[in-house]
Amino acid sequence: MSVGNPSFDVFQLSDEHVEMRKILRDLCDKEIAPYAADVDEKARYTDEALKALNSSGFSAIHIPEEYGGQGGDSVAACIVIEEVARVCASSSLIPICNKLGTMGMLLKGSEELKQKVLPSIGSGEATASYALSEREAGSDAAAMRTRAKADGDDWVLNGSKCWISNGGKSTWYTVMAVTDPDKGANGISAFVVHADDPGFTVGAKERKMGIKGSPTTDLYFEDCRIPGDRIIGEPGTGFKTALATLDHTRPTIGAQAVGIAQGALEASIAYTKERKQFGKSISDFQNTQFMLADMAMKIEAARLMVYTAAARAERGEPNLGFISSAAKCYASDVAMEVTTNAVQLFGGYGYTVDFPVERYMRDAKITQIYEGTNQIQRVVMSRALLR
Ligand SMILES: Cc1cc2nc3c(=O)[nH]c(=O)nc-3n(C[C@H](O)[C@H](O)[C@H](O)COP(=O)(O)OP(=O)(O)OC[C@H]3O[C@@H](n4cnc5c(N)ncnc54)[C@H](O)[C@@H]3O)c2cc1C
Repeated sequence: MSVGNPSFDVFQLSDEHVEMRKILRDLCDKEIAPYAADVDEKARYTDEALKALNSSGFSAIHIPEEYGGQGGDSVAACIVIEEVARVCASSSLIPICNKLGTMGMLLKGSEELKQKVLPSIGSGEATASYALSEREAGSDAAAMRTRAKADGDDWVLNGSKCWISNGGKSTWYTVMAVTDPDKGANGISAFVVHADDPGFTVGAKERKMGIKGSPTTDLYFEDCRIPGDRIIGEPGTGFKTALATLDHTRPTIGAQAVGIAQGALEASIAYTKERKQFGKSISDFQNTQFMLADMAMKIEAARLMVYTAAARAERGEPNLGFISSAAKCYASDVAMEVTTNAVQLFGGYGYTVDFPVERYMRDAKITQIYEGTNQIQRVVMSRALLR
């Protein structure tokens, strides 16, 4: 056994990952953080972040090099999302949605479809969204009613989707629709719709608690005609593709949660050192110290689980359901707890928009809800345990 072996690299990120994080941190602090409060207050799109991420090649680093992308691995994609969310959760929806909206294609799309769609996203010229949810089909997504029918060489879509992140901003939408209503989940297919396709329209923005800089909208399909080759995989495989997508992307929501929690922790450390009560810094009280220690400890555990889930997805391991749900669920519960405690540590000031922690707390909440609520993650995990 060797002691003090610096080349022992188990549980250590590669030099490239570490270097990338440094570059991102600088970029995010300088070009994204200054706009985070304004984006939130005005509920406006994160234009500055899109520009900064595009010009540095970080808006969709998961796109493979053969499609004009950076070919970043799953852990690298999580680091991008984590670092952006550390300063602005809304902006982190740019890389999140780009991965979510393209993963089905990457997993099951034809070569022609990938060649048609992915280069525009890899170059930053276009962005993508993922459309599974409907008003009456949320957790029970297979109960969807949007229909797609073959018509000559084309597919014609009718129906609507709701809660679509970056709706109206994205160029490409991966849309799940029923092609054979008699077959339940096995009668659902996945398609790629372009924003300019005839019969496709976007609804009004939802007025939300958090991630206000990422528009969330309905999508409408009225005899929306798309070319036949825009189907992902075979008819009837769409629901499986949608779920396989989530196995790969739930760790990215975990990464978003870790980033939000990290931002709240750093703000709390700075504030509690500065703020004086009873003649000393509030960080001198053991209660504060223990709260900070618990926050940091849980963030560290969440981060490790997120990277583990991402690494397992990258290796193409089977049965990712448990670990990707666990990473998303644990990290988002940690983010909610940490951000709530951050507000507590700021006292009354934490309850105002003059400090960022109330935004972190509002933004954290969505990580417990989307890509499947944390109750649904527990359904997925327990199913894997009891199988
Ligand atoms: C801001 C935002 C962005 C989103 N972005 C997207 C997107 O880009 N693409 C997309 O397709 N969707 C998106 N969603 C939808 C999101 O994934 C759903 O809201 C979520 O899956 C829950 O569905 P629901 O809202 O219909 O809640 P419901 O399914 O009605 O759930 C309500 C409550 O019941 C619980 N519940 C339901 N079923 C069970 C069960 N079997 N066991 C235990 N508890 C259960 C839930 O956990 C929840 O607490 C987004 C949602 C929001 C709010």
